[in-house]
Amino acid sequence: MLKDSFNRIHDYLRISLTDKCNLRCTYCNPVDLPKGHFAHSNKMTVDEIDLIAGVFVQLGIKKIRLTGGEPLVRKGAGEIIHLLSKYPVELAITTNGVFVHEFIDVFQQAGMKSVNVSLDSLKKNKNALISGRNEFERVFGNVQLLLKNNFDVKVNTVLMKGVNDDEIPGFVEWTRHQPVHIRFIEFMPFAGNQWSKEKVFSQEEILNLIASHFDFNRLPDDDHGTAKKFAVNDAKGTFGIISTMSHPFCGSCNRLRLTTDGKMKNCLFSKGEADILGALRRGDDIVPLIKQCVWDKKKAQGGQFDSNYKNIDIAQLKNRSMIHIGG
Ligand code: SAM
Repeated sequence: MLKDSFNRIHDYLRISLTDKCNLRCTYCNPVDLPKGHFAHSNKMTVDEIDLIAGVFVQLGIKKIRLTGGEPLVRKGAGEIIHLLSKYPVELAITTNGVFVHEFIDVFQQAGMKSVNVSLDSLKKNKNALISGRNEFERVFGNVQLLLKNNFDVKVNTVLMKGVNDDEIPGFVEWTRHQPVHIRFIEFMPFAGNQWSKEKVFSQEEILNLIASHFDFNRLPDDDHGTAKKFAVNDAKGTFGIISTMSHPFCGSCNRLRLTTDGKMKNCLFSKGEADILGALRRGDDIVPLIKQCVWDKKKAQGGQFDSNYKNIDIAQLKNRSMIHIGG
């Protein structure tokens, strides 16, 4: 069992398959990182991912989510999904949705039930502006394909004030007609993503805006769930808020992360990383390293933030960009 010094049990591992992505979302891709920041030469091979995942499973991991970069652009993504499906875990994926139609059989064969798709605007032009690519129709079509094939679909929408907060009612309206679960995510700071407190559209602002358009109810929280969930009366789907900035939920965190270059992070905002891949390649036992990394987890937000996000000094933040961590 993987327990930290605050008695939190960790049974959920997010594995980044690559730090490459076919989209260029403004809030995720760094704009000014030096050349050589990418770690392609040192990325975990398919066999190493399988091996390391197996060790984590022996240590009590019950859920594995594949992420990136864009996990579906990783060479061998299908093979990795197939290999990991042999473990007694809930296997899930977070994707930008562009290649889902090519992988839906692989998802089904691997027994995947839930797919998270990122979509920040329901307007074609705005979507292209945020993601840097013209893929709205493909992504929206693939959400429909997933729904048709009875996947549990969560749509992740990063809200940025003045950019897409005006679309909140449109996303909530969508939940009235289809069994889709929208999750509004507060904009988070990472290296090179031009975050500022003024761009955060907070939980309170989201709920006030929705209340001026719809009648809705709070739903029970999932165990360790990051989103507070709600549903409009008589809706087929739900909406949720991931309030990392205004109301962090570190007290119930059960998550660990493995970057594509085989570094373990005990928090999305941790400064430190444990070099699991390096140890594996030297032939060392990686179990003590994993346990120590879990034990070293800070109480909240990697120990980097003031509890009031409005006091964050972005210049003091030490972390990789989101695309390199694996969101
Ligand atoms: N390419 C995949 C995708 O688009 O879902 C997986 C990787 S992406 C980094 C994972 C999630 O992180 C996405 O839902 C994305 O919206 C979210 N994300 C990235 N940067 C973020 C930021 N600065 N604040 C909040 N969420 C962010």
